Amino acid sequence: MADCIVMKFGGTSVGDAKAIERVASIVCERLPQHPVVVVSAMARVTDQLLQMARAAGSGDRKTALTLARELRERHYNTAGELLGTALFTQFHSDLGTEFEDLEELLRGISAVGELTPRTTDHVASFGEVLSSKLVTAAMSAHGIASTLIDSRECIVTDDTFTRAAPLFEETNSKLRELVQPLIKQGRVPVMGGFIGANRAGITTTIGRGGSDFSAAIVGAGLGADKIEIWTDVDGMMTTDPNLCPDARRIKVISFDEAAELAYFGAKVLHPATVLPAIQKNIPVYILNSRNPTCDGTRIAARAPHCRNFFKAIAAKKRITIIDIAAPRMLLAHGFLKAIFEAFDRHGIAIDVVSTSEVSVSLTVDSNESIPALAADLSRLADVKYEGRKAIVCLVGENLREVPGIAAHVFGQLTDVKIRMISQGASEINLTFVVDEEQVPSIVQRLHKIFFADPDPEIFA
Ligand code: ASP
Ligand code: MG
Repeated sequence: MADCIVMKFGGTSVGDAKAIERVASIVCERLPQHPVVVVSAMARVTDQLLQMARAAGSGDRKTALTLARELRERHYNTAGELLGTALFTQFHSDLGTEFEDLEELLRGISAVGELTPRTTDHVASFGEVLSSKLVTAAMSAHGIASTLIDSRECIVTDDTFTRAAPLFEETNSKLRELVQPLIKQGRVPVMGGFIGANRAGITTTIGRGGSDFSAAIVGAGLGADKIEIWTDVDGMMTTDPNLCPDARRIKVISFDEAAELAYFGAKVLHPATVLPAIQKNIPVYILNSRNPTCDGTRIAARAPHCRNFFKAIAAKKRITIIDIAAPRMLLAHGFLKAIFEAFDRHGIAIDVVSTSEVSVSLTVDSNESIPALAADLSRLADVKYEGRKAIVCLVGENLREVPGIAAHVFGQLTDVKIRMISQGASEINLTFVVDEEQVPSIVQRLHKIFFADPDPEIFA
Protein backbone atom coordinates (compact mmCIF):
# COMPACT_ATOMS: atom_id res chain seq x y z
CA MET A 1 0.00 0.00 0.00
CA ALA A 2 0.91 3.62 -0.20
CA ASP A 3 3.89 4.75 1.77
CA CYS A 4 2.28 7.85 3.27
CA ILE A 5 0.97 9.55 6.38
CA VAL A 6 -2.30 11.39 6.92
CA MET A 7 -2.14 14.81 8.59
CA LYS A 8 -5.47 16.19 9.73
CA PHE A 9 -5.75 19.82 10.80
CA GLY A 10 -8.76 20.88 12.86
CA GLY A 11 -10.69 24.14 12.69
CA THR A 12 -8.43 26.10 15.04
CA SER A 13 -5.35 24.86 13.16
CA VAL A 14 -6.71 26.49 9.99
CA GLY A 15 -8.58 29.28 11.81
CA ASP A 16 -6.71 32.24 10.29
CA ALA A 17 -3.81 33.12 8.01
CA LYS A 18 -1.19 32.65 10.74
CA ALA A 19 -2.54 29.24 11.61
CA ILE A 20 -2.56 28.20 7.95
CA GLU A 21 1.06 29.40 7.60
CA ARG A 22 1.93 27.11 10.48
CA VAL A 23 0.14 24.25 8.74
CA ALA A 24 2.19 24.83 5.63
CA SER A 25 5.46 24.76 7.54
CA ILE A 26 4.45 21.67 9.53
CA VAL A 27 3.56 19.87 6.30
CA CYS A 28 6.88 20.99 4.81
CA GLU A 29 8.74 19.23 7.60
CA ARG A 30 6.92 15.99 6.85
CA LEU A 31 7.37 15.97 3.07
CA PRO A 32 9.75 12.98 3.13
CA GLN A 33 6.95 10.95 4.76
CA HIS A 34 4.52 11.70 1.90
CA PRO A 35 1.69 13.48 3.67
CA VAL A 36 -1.95 13.47 2.66
CA VAL A 37 -3.59 16.51 4.24
CA VAL A 38 -7.18 16.50 5.55
CA VAL A 39 -8.60 19.80 6.80
CA SER A 40 -11.62 20.94 8.78
CA ALA A 41 -13.50 24.10 7.96
CA MET A 42 -11.99 27.24 9.50
CA ALA A 43 -12.90 27.53 13.20
CA ARG A 44 -16.63 28.18 13.80
CA VAL A 45 -17.51 28.08 10.09
CA THR A 46 -19.64 24.95 10.21
CA ASP A 47 -21.75 26.46 13.00
CA GLN A 48 -22.17 29.62 10.96
CA LEU A 49 -23.15 27.72 7.84
CA LEU A 50 -25.75 25.76 9.77
CA GLN A 51 -27.02 29.01 11.20
CA MET A 52 -27.48 30.48 7.71
CA ALA A 53 -29.15 27.31 6.55
CA ARG A 54 -31.65 27.55 9.41
CA ALA A 55 -32.24 31.24 8.78
CA ALA A 56 -32.91 30.52 5.11
CA GLY A 57 -35.12 27.58 6.04
CA SER A 58 -37.28 29.82 8.16
CA GLY A 59 -37.59 32.25 5.26
CA ASP A 60 -35.14 34.81 6.71
CA ARG A 61 -33.22 35.35 3.51
CA LYS A 62 -31.66 38.58 4.69
CA THR A 63 -29.94 37.08 7.73
CA ALA A 64 -28.78 34.10 5.71
CA LEU A 65 -27.20 36.28 3.05
CA THR A 66 -25.65 38.66 5.58
CA LEU A 67 -23.97 35.73 7.31
CA ALA A 68 -22.80 34.41 3.95
CA ARG A 69 -21.27 37.80 3.17
CA GLU A 70 -19.35 37.77 6.45
CA LEU A 71 -18.06 34.33 5.63
CA ARG A 72 -16.96 35.54 2.21
CA GLU A 73 -15.04 38.43 3.76
CA ARG A 74 -13.27 36.18 6.21
CA HIS A 75 -12.14 33.81 3.50
CA TYR A 76 -11.06 36.61 1.14
CA ASN A 77 -9.15 38.36 3.90
CA THR A 78 -7.39 35.17 4.90
CA ALA A 79 -6.54 34.38 1.28
CA GLY A 80 -5.30 37.94 0.80
CA GLU A 81 -2.93 37.56 3.74
CA LEU A 82 -1.69 34.19 2.59
CA LEU A 83 -1.24 34.57 -1.13
CA GLY A 84 0.81 36.85 -3.36
CA THR A 85 -1.08 39.12 -5.76
CA ALA A 86 -0.93 36.81 -8.75
CA LEU A 87 -2.14 33.76 -6.84
CA PHE A 88 -4.77 35.80 -5.03
CA THR A 89 -6.31 37.15 -8.25
CA GLN A 90 -6.73 33.65 -9.59
CA PHE A 91 -7.94 32.34 -6.28
CA HIS A 92 -10.36 35.21 -5.78
CA SER A 93 -12.50 34.16 -8.71
CA ASP A 94 -12.39 30.51 -7.69
CA LEU A 95 -13.59 31.44 -4.21
CA GLY A 96 -16.13 33.83 -5.72
CA THR A 97 -17.76 31.01 -7.64
CA GLU A 98 -18.15 29.00 -4.45
CA PHE A 99 -19.79 31.90 -2.65
CA GLU A 100 -22.15 32.54 -5.56
CA ASP A 101 -23.18 28.90 -5.35
CA LEU A 102 -23.68 29.20 -1.60
CA GLU A 103 -25.78 32.33 -1.93
CA GLU A 104 -27.86 30.82 -4.68
CA LEU A 105 -28.46 27.79 -2.53
CA LEU A 106 -29.52 29.95 0.43
CA ARG A 107 -31.90 31.92 -1.78
CA GLY A 108 -33.36 28.65 -2.99
CA ILE A 109 -33.84 27.35 0.54
CA SER A 110 -35.51 30.56 1.66
CA ALA A 111 -37.77 30.57 -1.41
CA VAL A 112 -38.95 27.07 -0.55
CA GLY A 113 -38.93 27.89 3.16
CA GLU A 114 -37.89 24.37 4.01
CA LEU A 115 -34.56 22.98 5.11
CA THR A 116 -34.09 19.28 4.50
CA PRO A 117 -31.19 17.18 5.83
CA ARG A 118 -29.97 16.93 2.27
CA THR A 119 -29.78 20.71 1.75
CA THR A 120 -28.34 21.10 5.25
CA ASP A 121 -25.42 18.93 4.18
CA HIS A 122 -25.02 20.87 0.98
CA VAL A 123 -24.76 24.15 2.91
CA ALA A 124 -22.47 22.65 5.59
CA SER A 125 -20.12 21.24 2.94
CA PHE A 126 -18.97 24.72 1.91
CA GLY A 127 -16.84 25.02 5.05
CA GLU A 128 -14.50 22.20 4.08
CA VAL A 129 -14.71 22.94 0.36
CA LEU A 130 -13.46 26.47 1.07
CA SER A 131 -10.83 25.57 3.65
CA SER A 132 -9.37 22.81 1.50
CA LYS A 133 -9.05 25.25 -1.41
CA LEU A 134 -7.47 27.85 0.83
CA VAL A 135 -4.97 25.44 2.34
CA THR A 136 -4.04 24.03 -1.07
CA ALA A 137 -3.37 27.54 -2.39
CA ALA A 138 -1.41 28.48 0.73
CA MET A 139 0.76 25.39 0.45
CA SER A 140 1.43 26.11 -3.23
CA ALA A 141 2.42 29.63 -2.25
CA HIS A 142 4.89 28.01 0.13
CA GLY A 143 6.37 26.00 -2.71
CA ILE A 144 4.73 22.72 -1.69
CA ALA A 145 3.52 20.76 -4.71
CA SER A 146 -0.04 20.26 -3.52
CA THR A 147 -3.18 19.13 -5.31
CA LEU A 148 -6.74 19.66 -4.19
CA ILE A 149 -8.87 16.54 -4.11
CA ASP A 150 -12.62 16.99 -3.91
CA SER A 151 -13.60 14.68 -1.06
CA ARG A 152 -16.99 14.22 -2.67
CA GLU A 153 -15.24 12.27 -5.38
CA CYS A 154 -13.50 9.94 -2.93
CA ILE A 155 -15.52 9.50 0.22
CA VAL A 156 -18.53 7.48 -0.88
CA THR A 157 -21.31 7.28 1.70
CA ASP A 158 -24.82 6.02 2.15
CA ASP A 159 -27.81 8.40 2.02
CA THR A 160 -28.07 9.20 5.73
CA PHE A 161 -27.71 12.95 5.31
CA THR A 162 -26.07 14.82 8.23
CA ARG A 163 -24.48 11.61 9.54
CA ALA A 164 -23.79 9.48 6.53
CA ALA A 165 -21.87 6.24 6.87
CA PRO A 166 -18.92 5.66 4.57
CA LEU A 167 -19.07 2.79 2.10
CA PHE A 168 -15.57 1.56 2.67
CA GLU A 169 -15.01 -0.61 -0.36
CA GLU A 170 -16.03 2.04 -2.83
CA THR A 171 -14.23 4.74 -0.90
CA ASN A 172 -11.03 2.72 -0.74
CA SER A 173 -11.00 2.08 -4.44
CA LYS A 174 -11.58 5.79 -5.14
CA LEU A 175 -8.75 6.68 -2.79
CA ARG A 176 -6.46 4.28 -4.59
CA GLU A 177 -7.52 5.62 -7.94
CA LEU A 178 -7.39 9.37 -7.20
CA VAL A 179 -5.09 9.95 -4.24
CA GLN A 180 -2.44 7.24 -4.49
CA PRO A 181 -1.06 8.35 -7.88
CA LEU A 182 -0.49 11.86 -6.53
CA ILE A 183 1.50 10.51 -3.61
CA LYS A 184 3.60 8.48 -6.02
CA GLN A 185 4.29 11.66 -8.02
CA GLY A 186 5.55 13.33 -4.87
CA ARG A 187 2.59 15.68 -4.62
CA VAL A 188 0.66 16.49 -1.45
CA PRO A 189 -3.05 15.74 -1.84
CA VAL A 190 -5.29 18.07 0.19
CA MET A 191 -8.84 17.06 1.06
CA GLY A 192 -11.68 18.54 3.07
CA GLY A 193 -12.76 16.40 6.00
CA PHE A 194 -16.37 15.85 7.09
CA ILE A 195 -17.83 15.76 3.57
CA GLY A 196 -18.51 13.06 1.05
CA ALA A 197 -21.13 12.11 -1.47
CA ASN A 198 -23.55 9.27 -1.95
CA ARG A 199 -23.37 6.93 -4.94
CA ALA A 200 -25.43 9.38 -6.98
CA GLY A 201 -22.89 12.12 -6.26
CA ILE A 202 -25.13 14.11 -3.90
CA THR A 203 -23.14 15.85 -1.15
CA THR A 204 -23.34 14.28 2.32
CA THR A 205 -21.60 14.90 5.66
CA ILE A 206 -20.48 12.23 8.08
CA GLY A 207 -21.52 13.95 11.32
CA ARG A 208 -20.28 16.90 13.39
CA GLY A 209 -16.62 16.69 14.24
CA GLY A 210 -16.32 14.22 11.38
CA SER A 211 -12.97 15.38 10.02
CA ASP A 212 -11.12 13.05 12.39
CA PHE A 213 -13.24 10.25 11.00
CA SER A 214 -12.36 11.38 7.46
CA ALA A 215 -8.67 11.25 8.36
CA ALA A 216 -9.09 7.71 9.67
CA ILE A 217 -11.05 6.64 6.59
CA VAL A 218 -8.37 8.03 4.29
CA GLY A 219 -5.53 6.61 6.37
CA ALA A 220 -7.10 3.18 6.60
CA GLY A 221 -8.00 3.20 2.91
CA LEU A 222 -4.48 4.09 1.83
CA GLY A 223 -2.77 1.90 4.44
CA ALA A 224 -0.96 4.95 5.81
CA ASP A 225 1.97 4.52 8.21
CA LYS A 226 0.33 6.81 10.74
CA ILE A 227 -2.37 9.40 11.19
CA GLU A 228 -1.64 12.72 12.80
CA ILE A 229 -4.54 14.68 14.28
CA TRP A 230 -3.27 18.26 14.63
CA THR A 231 -5.17 20.29 17.16
CA ASP A 232 -4.49 23.06 19.67
CA VAL A 233 -3.44 21.07 22.74
CA ASP A 234 -0.34 19.02 23.45
CA GLY A 235 -2.28 15.78 23.65
CA MET A 236 -4.18 13.83 26.27
CA MET A 237 -3.32 14.60 29.87
CA THR A 238 -3.37 12.54 33.06
CA THR A 239 -5.99 14.95 34.33
CA ASP A 240 -7.37 18.42 33.71
CA PRO A 241 -4.39 20.77 34.20
CA ASN A 242 -6.76 23.50 35.38
CA LEU A 243 -7.77 21.25 38.22
CA CYS A 244 -4.34 19.90 38.92
CA PRO A 245 -1.17 21.71 37.85
CA ASP A 246 0.82 18.46 38.17
CA ALA A 247 -1.04 16.94 35.23
CA ARG A 248 1.27 15.14 32.79
CA ARG A 249 0.99 14.54 29.11
CA ILE A 250 0.22 10.92 28.26
CA LYS A 251 2.71 9.79 25.63
CA VAL A 252 0.86 6.63 24.69
CA ILE A 253 -2.62 5.41 25.47
CA SER A 254 -4.65 2.44 24.28
CA PHE A 255 -7.66 2.94 22.11
CA ASP A 256 -9.97 1.61 24.85
CA GLU A 257 -8.51 3.95 27.44
CA ALA A 258 -8.83 6.93 25.11
CA ALA A 259 -12.44 5.97 24.44
CA GLU A 260 -13.25 5.93 28.16
CA LEU A 261 -11.70 9.35 28.58
CA ALA A 262 -13.48 10.86 25.60
CA TYR A 263 -16.73 10.04 27.27
CA PHE A 264 -15.65 12.18 30.21
CA GLY A 265 -15.24 15.18 28.06
CA ALA A 266 -11.64 14.86 26.94
CA LYS A 267 -12.59 17.06 24.01
CA VAL A 268 -9.41 16.34 22.15
CA LEU A 269 -10.81 13.65 19.93
CA HIS A 270 -13.54 11.09 19.94
CA PRO A 271 -11.64 7.83 19.54
CA ALA A 272 -14.56 6.07 17.91
CA THR A 273 -13.85 8.25 14.92
CA VAL A 274 -10.39 6.79 14.48
CA LEU A 275 -11.52 3.18 14.81
CA PRO A 276 -10.97 2.40 11.10
CA ALA A 277 -7.30 3.25 11.63
CA ILE A 278 -6.93 1.38 14.92
CA GLN A 279 -8.49 -1.72 13.38
CA LYS A 280 -5.74 -1.68 10.80
CA ASN A 281 -3.13 -1.12 13.48
CA ILE A 282 -2.29 2.33 12.17
CA PRO A 283 -1.11 4.49 15.07
CA VAL A 284 -2.92 7.77 15.59
CA TYR A 285 -1.12 10.79 17.08
CA ILE A 286 -2.65 13.85 18.67
CA LEU A 287 -0.36 16.83 18.07
CA ASN A 288 -0.39 20.56 18.70
CA SER A 289 -0.07 22.84 15.68
CA ARG A 290 0.96 25.69 17.99
CA ASN A 291 3.68 23.56 19.52
CA PRO A 292 4.74 21.22 16.72
CA THR A 293 7.90 19.90 18.36
CA CYS A 294 5.89 18.34 21.19
CA ASP A 295 5.49 14.58 20.67
CA GLY A 296 1.79 14.63 21.59
CA THR A 297 -0.14 11.49 22.44
CA ARG A 298 -0.03 8.26 20.49
CA ILE A 299 -3.20 6.18 20.46
CA ALA A 300 -2.39 2.55 19.86
CA ALA A 301 -4.50 -0.56 19.48
CA ARG A 302 -2.83 -1.98 22.60
CA ALA A 303 -1.10 -0.06 25.34
CA PRO A 304 2.44 -0.98 26.33
CA HIS A 305 2.99 -2.06 29.92
CA CYS A 306 2.63 0.80 32.39
CA ARG A 307 4.11 0.87 35.88
CA ASN A 308 1.35 3.13 37.17
CA PHE A 309 -2.09 1.76 37.93
CA PHE A 310 -3.84 4.43 35.91
CA LYS A 311 -3.40 6.48 32.79
CA ALA A 312 -5.72 9.28 33.74
CA ILE A 313 -8.25 10.64 36.18
CA ALA A 314 -11.26 12.37 34.68
CA ALA A 315 -14.14 14.15 36.33
CA LYS A 316 -17.51 15.19 35.03
CA LYS A 317 -19.43 17.77 36.99
CA ARG A 318 -23.07 18.89 36.87
CA ILE A 319 -24.40 15.42 37.51
CA THR A 320 -27.70 14.56 39.17
CA ILE A 321 -28.29 11.30 41.01
CA ILE A 322 -31.74 9.84 40.75
CA ASP A 323 -32.67 7.23 43.37
CA ILE A 324 -35.62 5.06 42.59
CA ALA A 325 -36.83 2.83 45.40
CA ALA A 326 -39.58 0.32 44.92
CA PRO A 327 -39.59 -2.33 47.63
CA ARG A 328 -42.33 -4.43 46.17
CA MET A 329 -41.85 -3.85 42.51
CA LEU A 330 -38.21 -4.08 41.81
CA LEU A 331 -38.18 -7.74 41.01
CA ALA A 332 -41.38 -7.47 39.10
CA HIS A 333 -41.00 -8.25 35.47
CA GLY A 334 -40.56 -5.17 33.32
CA PHE A 335 -39.78 -2.72 36.10
CA LEU A 336 -36.34 -1.65 34.85
CA LYS A 337 -37.73 -1.52 31.36
CA ALA A 338 -40.44 0.88 32.49
CA ILE A 339 -37.82 3.06 34.17
CA PHE A 340 -35.60 3.19 31.12
CA GLU A 341 -38.58 3.94 28.93
CA ALA A 342 -39.38 6.95 31.09
CA PHE A 343 -35.82 8.25 30.61
CA ASP A 344 -36.17 7.66 26.93
CA ARG A 345 -39.45 9.57 26.70
CA HIS A 346 -37.79 12.56 28.32
CA GLY A 347 -34.74 12.26 26.11
CA ILE A 348 -32.41 11.93 29.11
CA ALA A 349 -29.29 9.80 28.80
CA ILE A 350 -28.09 7.74 31.74
CA ASP A 351 -24.41 7.57 32.74
CA VAL A 352 -23.85 5.35 35.74
CA VAL A 353 -26.32 2.77 37.05
CA SER A 354 -26.26 0.75 40.22
CA THR A 355 -28.98 -1.49 41.54
CA SER A 356 -29.86 -3.32 44.71
CA GLU A 357 -32.76 -5.55 45.63
CA VAL A 358 -34.92 -2.60 46.45
CA SER A 359 -33.58 0.37 44.58
CA VAL A 360 -31.91 1.68 41.47
CA SER A 361 -29.62 4.69 41.40
CA LEU A 362 -28.75 6.39 38.16
CA THR A 363 -26.83 9.46 37.18
CA VAL A 364 -27.67 11.89 34.42
CA ASP A 365 -26.30 15.25 33.31
CA SER A 366 -28.14 17.89 35.30
CA ASN A 367 -30.83 19.49 33.15
CA GLU A 368 -34.23 21.14 33.26
CA SER A 369 -36.19 18.05 32.26
CA ILE A 370 -35.36 16.15 35.44
CA PRO A 371 -38.37 17.35 37.51
CA ALA A 372 -40.75 16.22 34.77
CA LEU A 373 -38.95 12.90 34.53
CA ALA A 374 -39.11 12.47 38.31
CA ALA A 375 -42.84 13.18 38.27
CA ASP A 376 -43.26 10.60 35.57
CA LEU A 377 -41.18 8.03 37.45
CA SER A 378 -42.99 8.63 40.72
CA ARG A 379 -45.97 6.86 39.22
CA LEU A 380 -43.84 3.72 39.33
CA ALA A 381 -41.85 4.10 42.53
CA ASP A 382 -40.47 6.44 45.17
CA VAL A 383 -38.16 8.91 43.49
CA LYS A 384 -35.57 11.27 44.92
CA TYR A 385 -33.06 13.29 43.01
CA GLU A 386 -30.10 15.36 44.01
CA GLY A 387 -27.98 17.65 41.86
CA ARG A 388 -24.48 19.12 42.28
CA LYS A 389 -22.82 15.74 42.03
CA ALA A 390 -19.83 14.70 39.98
CA ILE A 391 -18.51 11.52 38.46
CA VAL A 392 -14.85 10.77 39.03
CA CYS A 393 -13.36 8.16 36.77
CA LEU A 394 -9.96 6.49 36.87
CA VAL A 395 -8.88 4.82 33.66
CA GLY A 396 -6.16 2.29 33.01
CA GLU A 397 -5.70 -1.14 31.43
CA ASN A 398 -4.03 -2.32 34.64
CA LEU A 399 -7.45 -2.43 36.29
CA ARG A 400 -8.09 -5.57 34.25
CA GLU A 401 -5.16 -7.47 35.68
CA VAL A 402 -3.85 -6.07 38.95
CA PRO A 403 -5.86 -7.07 42.02
CA GLY A 404 -6.56 -4.69 44.88
CA ILE A 405 -6.51 -1.44 42.93
CA ALA A 406 -9.98 -0.42 44.12
CA ALA A 407 -8.88 -0.85 47.72
CA HIS A 408 -5.97 1.48 47.03
CA VAL A 409 -8.28 4.12 45.62
CA PHE A 410 -10.97 4.01 48.25
CA GLY A 411 -8.37 3.66 51.01
CA GLN A 412 -7.32 7.19 50.10
CA LEU A 413 -10.85 8.50 50.34
CA THR A 414 -11.96 7.28 53.74
CA ASP A 415 -13.21 10.77 54.61
CA VAL A 416 -15.26 11.14 51.42
CA LYS A 417 -18.91 10.28 51.12
CA ILE A 418 -19.08 8.13 48.02
CA ARG A 419 -22.53 7.93 46.57
CA MET A 420 -22.19 5.32 43.86
CA ILE A 421 -19.45 3.02 42.61
CA SER A 422 -19.17 1.27 39.32
CA GLN A 423 -16.51 -0.60 37.49
CA GLY A 424 -17.49 -0.49 33.85
CA ALA A 425 -17.95 -3.55 31.73
CA SER A 426 -14.85 -2.53 29.83
CA GLU A 427 -12.96 -3.37 33.07
CA ILE A 428 -10.63 -0.46 32.57
CA ASN A 429 -12.46 2.25 34.44
CA LEU A 430 -13.26 2.70 38.07
CA THR A 431 -16.02 5.23 38.51
CA PHE A 432 -17.63 6.78 41.55
CA VAL A 433 -19.96 9.63 42.34
CA VAL A 434 -19.28 12.35 44.91
CA ASP A 435 -20.42 15.84 45.80
CA GLU A 436 -19.36 18.28 43.14
CA GLU A 437 -17.42 20.63 45.39
CA GLN A 438 -15.12 17.80 46.45
CA VAL A 439 -13.85 17.15 42.95
CA PRO A 440 -10.75 19.39 43.01
CA SER A 441 -9.42 17.98 46.26
CA ILE A 442 -10.22 14.38 45.35
CA VAL A 443 -8.60 14.64 41.93
CA GLN A 444 -5.53 16.39 43.35
CA ARG A 445 -5.11 13.80 46.08
CA LEU A 446 -5.53 10.83 43.79
CA HIS A 447 -3.26 12.35 41.18
CA LYS A 448 -0.56 12.97 43.74
CA ILE A 449 -0.67 9.38 44.89
CA PHE A 450 -1.07 7.53 41.62
CA PHE A 451 1.27 9.71 39.58
CA ALA A 452 3.92 10.31 42.24
CA ASP A 453 6.35 8.24 40.21
CA PRO A 454 5.18 8.40 36.60
CA ASP A 455 6.44 5.72 34.25
CA PRO A 456 8.74 7.64 31.86
CA GLU A 457 7.80 5.34 28.97
CA ILE A 458 4.17 6.38 29.27
CA PHE A 459 4.10 9.90 30.68
CA ALA A 460 5.98 13.04 29.70
N1 ASP B 1 -16.22 21.21 10.38
C1 ASP B 1 -16.95 20.09 10.89
C2 ASP B 1 -17.55 20.42 12.24
O1 ASP B 1 -17.32 21.50 12.76
C3 ASP B 1 -16.13 18.85 10.96
C4 ASP B 1 -14.90 18.93 11.82
O2 ASP B 1 -14.39 20.01 12.05
O3 ASP B 1 -14.42 17.88 12.26
O4 ASP B 1 -18.28 19.62 12.76
MG1 MG C 1 -12.80 18.32 15.81
